[in-house]
Amino acid sequence: MIIDCHGHYTTEPGKLGVFRDKQLAGLADGNRKPTTENLGITDDEIRVTIEGAQKKQQIERGTDMTIFSPRAAGMAHHVGTEATSQQWTRVCNDLIYRVTELFQDNFIGVCQLPQSPGVPIKNSVAELERCVKELDFVGCNLNPDPSGGYWKEPPLTDKQWYPIYEKMCELDVPAMVHVSSSCNPAVHATGAHYINGDTTAFMQLIQNGQQLFKDFPKLRFIIPHGGGAVPFHWGRYRGLAQDMGKPPIEEWLLPHVFFDTCVYHQPGINLLAEVIPIDNIMFASEMVGAVKGVDPKSGHNYDDTKRYVDALKISAADKAKIFETNVYKVYPRVKKRLEKLGKLKKA
Ligand SMILES: [Zn+2]
Repeated sequence: MIIDCHGHYTTEPGKLGVFRDKQLAGLADGNRKPTTENLGITDDEIRVTIEGAQKKQQIERGTDMTIFSPRAAGMAHHVGTEATSQQWTRVCNDLIYRVTELFQDNFIGVCQLPQSPGVPIKNSVAELERCVKELDFVGCNLNPDPSGGYWKEPPLTDKQWYPIYEKMCELDVPAMVHVSSSCNPAVHATGAHYINGDTTAFMQLIQNGQQLFKDFPKLRFIIPHGGGAVPFHWGRYRGLAQDMGKPPIEEWLLPHVFFDTCVYHQPGINLLAEVIPIDNIMFASEMVGAVKGVDPKSGHNYDDTKRYVDALKISAADKAKIFETNVYKVYPRVKKRLEKLGKLKKA
């Protein structure tokens, strides 16, 4: 089975946007806020958006299952108040749940969190618990910068974040460290903010992760988009850790940190697989996502990342780790759900 650990519902029915518009209009004029969280979206409306996009690409590209979460840029934690974020998050997660129920063979849910700038992360714990226990989700997207490009929160290693880590460890779910849209005009969202976010989070873990991982031996993060700038500058990060007097990061950091394959060209994937241990790489495409076009050099979609992994000069056993089995280690609930659905034999 080929599991794509990073996909977003970027083709949501228009009624979700209508709800959001009303919600935001309601911030200025209470009379315009939505009167219900029932979006009025039918199952058929959901089917159309998936069958013509994510599922179609799964079939065309030969992948099986996608770990699926709400549109990352849509989380927009910086917009409105905490109440705005709580309501929006609930609505978006519920929509993901419907996709995972309608397409049990193709999607497994991951939630967004109702973060808001300056609001304690403990206020996001209940939604994580609801999504895992009631909706059978397997992880969450954790935004290290809910300010949307101004980096106002303390680093991820700060004790302020501990309540969500406690709940993640209790539920045995990982977090993908994933920023949302940028409201800083100097920082392009998917081209700069996403990659900065990945790189910044990794450096925060180098600086103070030793204590964090001592406090939470089961804590697991996925750094998406191929780990941002990290694999390309691996010597810099190993060297910085060394200069700080820390043991090799392979020993204490890599047991907790995993990279996906959302790197949209072959040389980038070759470098990722050469630099980062295979045990720390999970297949992902982030389709349908930030880069939708066809690469004129290859003749294929940039985000058709399976081709790049297929072309890696590594053993079949190592490819199986990237495509499937590493996911079971990082997301134990994926395995449980697949067993429950009869798609995977119990070991
Ligand atoms: Zn993403």
